[in-house]
Amino acid sequence: MKSKLYLAKCSQCGQKFRRRTRTELLKAIREHIWKYHRAWMIKRIKAGRKDDNPGLIAILSAVLLGVQAVTAVLKLAKTKRIDDAHGVVTVLTPVLPKNVVTVWSAAYQAHRIYKMKKED
Ligand SMILES: [Zn+2]
Repeated sequence: MKSKLYLAKCSQCGQKFRRRTRTELLKAIREHIWKYHRAWMIKRIKAGRKDDNPGLIAILSAVLLGVQAVTAVLKLAKTKRIDDAHGVVTVLTPVLPKNVVTVWSAAYQAHRIYKMKKED
């Protein structure tokens, strides 16, 4: 059996990635981007928002990039948008990849704790 390789190229430095699974590929790219292009990534997240208020799509896109990205976006988002995103993830949980649900739950809980501490 010929094993399929998933390929991707970093849009910033052109480094190539080959992995056996999509999950591994996404993980490798995510780790690479946060290690080598952190400033660019943060700039991109901030540019993606209109005014100071990231929309639902921005929040959900960040979920695919990992906990750090979601946490950064949640700090800028309104509570209403965060609750909407939580609703969407909850509804889609049965069909979403497990790691996406895990990333969301971790970031969502971390954000709630962060907010509670701020309100103290
Ligand atoms: Zn790169």
